[in-house]
Amino acid sequence: MSTGGAFDFGICARECARCGAPISTTGGERGVTCRYCGASNTVERRSPLAAAPSPPTMADELARQARLRAQLEHPISPNPYALRLAPLGLRVAPELSALREGWASAKARAAAGQRSPSEQRDLVWFALHVAEAERLGRDLVAARAALETALELLEDAGHRHLVHCRLVTEAVRDRDPTSAERWLLQCDPRTEVLELDNSHRKAVARLRAAGGDHAGVLAVVGEREGDVAIVDEYAAALALLRAGAHEALGRESAADAAVETACGVGGEEPTLAKLAELGLAPRATARRRRARVEAAASARDAIPVGARALDDALFSVPILAGGLLFLVTIPRCTFDADPFFGVQGDLLCPHACRGCEGPFRLYTEWTHNGSEHSTNGPRYFCRTADNGVATMSDADFAASLHKLDRYELTFAPAAATYLTLLALLLPLALWSARTRHLGGVGARAAADEELSRLAADAGIEAPPATARHRSWVGFKLFAAALAVPSLVIALELALR
Ligand SMILES: [Zn+2]
Repeated sequence: MSTGGAFDFGICARECARCGAPISTTGGERGVTCRYCGASNTVERRSPLAAAPSPPTMADELARQARLRAQLEHPISPNPYALRLAPLGLRVAPELSALREGWASAKARAAAGQRSPSEQRDLVWFALHVAEAERLGRDLVAARAALETALELLEDAGHRHLVHCRLVTEAVRDRDPTSAERWLLQCDPRTEVLELDNSHRKAVARLRAAGGDHAGVLAVVGEREGDVAIVDEYAAALALLRAGAHEALGRESAADAAVETACGVGGEEPTLAKLAELGLAPRATARRRRARVEAAASARDAIPVGARALDDALFSVPILAGGLLFLVTIPRCTFDADPFFGVQGDLLCPHACRGCEGPFRLYTEWTHNGSEHSTNGPRYFCRTADNGVATMSDADFAASLHKLDRYELTFAPAAATYLTLLALLLPLALWSARTRHLGGVGARAAADEELSRLAADAGIEAPPATARHRSWVGFKLFAAALAVPSLVIALELALR
């Protein structure tokens, strides 16, 4: 029976042994003349189908499942059926010319009898990739010829199984379910190797999905991730089919979960493109695309520019000033030495007492108790023309402390020092805000470009930039850092 499609089971196809052009025959003749180069090719007829094996018992099937699952934990290595990796020496995404070259030499090696497991694996890899490339180039006849030429050169039943599975999916894609069913009969439904099993599940599920048997799809790919043993190589493809089946059955959240799985394994962009190509789960795909747009829009809106860049830059200033105040206190305590030379006294002292002026003199009183030394921190004294603060020796000063109380300032000097540090750090903060702003503008432009692309893919408008609610923590903290020490100074001076 012939269906007339490019993947018609009723015909035999090959690549011409001399020029590689596709040739095919429907009749029983063995010598087929190439229409391109005139070479005569021998095309062996496919051997007749063996009778379909009797279905396994439930116990047998469960035991097989368990053995397959064990291969997830103990992968076969090297695995002649793992097709994820390109043959050695080939780029990750080879060009068609490189594929054809590799395919030609793989065929030549096989024809010359070089048929090690890895060489046969590479032959399958090239056959599947060349077929894919030919299909994308809309040459289905060439795709078919490559696959069937591989069948002729492959000795191992497992490798042939992989090619037959692909012939199933290609026939499904070519809307030829009759041929797909017959190609499927060439596959081994009870294989003991995980990759071969997963390849078979993919073929069965594609056939059932095309026939509208969505419950049947879920029966082979599992209702949830993990229901059946699936190796990484097939995880994305089977999750796509699961998503499509769930959505067709109206289970939207299960469809979303399956799309999530597929995106996690196969990457966001390729997965969504594949779903669209196969016409699977259109609603889940649209939701995912819209969610991507929303996520990208909110990521863009979170990039600080303008006042928000300043807010971010200001946030660290009060904290940094606090740290520096601590550093400034260390020499004040240990050496009675002030990195600011008591300059804050010039401002504070005239308001503290009659005749007082700065800079103030520092004195730190230490209590020695055995090996323990403690202090309440530095004390600050204003000088006048005649109180001796400016001129006394340290020993005299220590002895006269009780007479100098009225010239002492308690909290105001530290508060004033803190304000000084804030003022010194402010230009740095402004510079940092400028850098953040300029970086943010660039990052937003890039984000907008990406957003337009995602929105176009989703078929919606890119959301305009919105000023999201912000708590302005940086400004608030900075304002508090100014207000509190100012209040401390005002109170101390007012209460004297
Ligand atoms: Zn030819």
